Amino acid sequence: MIRSLWDRDQAAKCESALDQLVYRSNLIGADRRVCNWGGGNTSTKTKGTDFRGREIELMWIKGSGSDLATMKAGQFTALRLDDVLPLMERDEMSDEEMVAYLAHCMVDSKHPRPSIETLLHAFLPFAHVDHTHPDAIISICCADNGRAVAEEIYGDRFVWVPYVRPGFTLSKLIAQGVAGNPKAELVLMEKHGLVTWGDTAEECYAKTISIIQEAEGYIASRVQEDQLFGGPIHESLPKAEREHILAQLMPVIRGAVSREKRMILTFDDEPDVMQFVNSKQAKELSQIGAACPDHLVHTKMVPLFVEWDPQSRDVELLKQQVLDGIARFQEEYRQYFERNRSEGDRMFEAAPRVILIPGIGMVNTGKSWANSKVSGALYHRAIAVMRGATTLGSFVSLDERESYQVEYWPLELYKLTLAPPEAEFSRQVVLVTGGAGGIGSETCRSFAAQGAHVVVADLNSEGAAEVAAQINEQYGEGRAIAVKMNVTSEEDVSLALAEAARTYGGIDILVNNAGLATSRPFDETTLQEWELNLSVLGTGYFLVAREAFKQMKAQGIGGNMVFVGSKNSVYAGKNAAAYSSAKALEVHLARCIAAEGGEYGIRVNSILPDAILQGSAIWNSSWRSERAAAYGIEPDQLEEYYRKRTTLLVNVYPKDIAEGILFFASSRSEKTTGCMLTIDGGVPAAFPR
Ligand code: ZN
Repeated sequence: MIRSLWDRDQAAKCESALDQLVYRSNLIGADRRVCNWGGGNTSTKTKGTDFRGREIELMWIKGSGSDLATMKAGQFTALRLDDVLPLMERDEMSDEEMVAYLAHCMVDSKHPRPSIETLLHAFLPFAHVDHTHPDAIISICCADNGRAVAEEIYGDRFVWVPYVRPGFTLSKLIAQGVAGNPKAELVLMEKHGLVTWGDTAEECYAKTISIIQEAEGYIASRVQEDQLFGGPIHESLPKAEREHILAQLMPVIRGAVSREKRMILTFDDEPDVMQFVNSKQAKELSQIGAACPDHLVHTKMVPLFVEWDPQSRDVELLKQQVLDGIARFQEEYRQYFERNRSEGDRMFEAAPRVILIPGIGMVNTGKSWANSKVSGALYHRAIAVMRGATTLGSFVSLDERESYQVEYWPLELYKLTLAPPEAEFSRQVVLVTGGAGGIGSETCRSFAAQGAHVVVADLNSEGAAEVAAQINEQYGEGRAIAVKMNVTSEEDVSLALAEAARTYGGIDILVNNAGLATSRPFDETTLQEWELNLSVLGTGYFLVAREAFKQMKAQGIGGNMVFVGSKNSVYAGKNAAAYSSAKALEVHLARCIAAEGGEYGIRVNSILPDAILQGSAIWNSSWRSERAAAYGIEPDQLEEYYRKRTTLLVNVYPKDIAEGILFFASSRSEKTTGCMLTIDGGVPAAFPR
């Protein structure tokens, strides 16, 4: 059951009407059972002043494209009510006219465009209005017998409005309905949501909550848990088995949905999802349509339901069924688009956003981790609505024509234009080994800054977690994860790639960077030192590249590997035979993989840095004093020594190396593979030839 989150002390701290509205809106958004992500809107009518200081009646309303849970004062728009209210006299108004008209009513042109549902708020004669999309209310509004159920719950306290797309007409219907029923406390919008109001912000919020609670109580007393969705016909596979299957399945799905544009995947096995996918009626119910018009842009009209029997344990069959299902879905989506399109419409990706698999759970797709999570979050709401609606009667949804009209509605598309433009590595996943170190962490940050999702792999799991946390802090939740990886452990490497597959669907770019170094005259080099260099720089690069190669092949959408070699890959470093030999092995391994990867669109290139001291674990070890000794100088003279040694008389920094790595990983070098790039300030002895 939902409950009131109102805190009088917190509310008292809100000085202005706008602050109170922000507080109330955040509370409503905080519980997704009350209002789904991005949906719903709130308003407050109050007095204010215009640009000339004249006192006016104004209404604060949510700006288009914000989310109630997180929105701040700057995402609300103030409108002059004196200019808005005369619209009540009109009989009709197109969306375009409405948007243009409301733009003239804005108190400040720098405010965001007001919500699509602005007039609904303006036309109601109440100081505070909430419009929400609560699960329990939509359950009633999406049940074939919803109106009769509402009469049982609310008696004559409600107004029912038939389904009409948001805009002028719906707003007027609501206003007229409320004017015609003096006892009205709420409006139920068929196949859509709820409107409530109050004289104060607190009263308005309390009403929203209590109305939803009444519906929840009614449904809860009727739900028969074991009969929900026709009862269970499958059992969830054990968690470990699901995870094992997902690690293989996610790259296959990612490849299939990424043919036009790459997608990021997420996975979800919450109890409500498992109950739904394992149920008898899941297939049929899932294909009826969206539970709320608001969901359509992020879930499409229907999900892909994969009819797989988990008890068969047949993973190869599952892969085939998923591939066939996605191909069929895409074809049907293209037909749906062609049947309904209007001039100028541009088709979204045809791939499913929601994939349901009995015994396993739900896979979501999106242009980013966050976007994929949104489609998952909205499908949780859809399941909750179907749970309520099928308890009360039969679940009904918008027809195909109306679904299309909402999915491609210019006013909905406008919200998508508010998202920041995609960056060079958006929709891509990069795994960086040695990601906590100097070059590694700089590379992780550079990729993240250019839109990539980052898997920070390092033996130093604390350091990796710090880098990932910093990226998530700066660029948003889900943009990076940390995995502990000893590159010489076959098991560690395979677990890390499996983790990447389960988290994002797979990887596009591997940066093989983890390293170490030892220095010793050749005849004093111990077997242990020799083997250490070969195992980390040789075997380690091999193991990580091999697992990444397998995953890239499974996805079938190409891939990219960048090996961080060294000047010593081509130069016989003095007192560093073990290190230099292993570094030479690395770049040759890169060329061998490049030769085999070409037919799969997998490119492999190497960067040859020299003397990157900044932030490097290697240079903080005995390597520094050993190298200084080899040159006959003091350890703190190394920076200067290296600078003077270069042709360009420069020091080389981690960001210089990251720059080269990003170049090789980008489409700017799309016709280059098996290549080496020196980033060393110019060391003639190490010029590749
Ligand atoms: Zn709405």
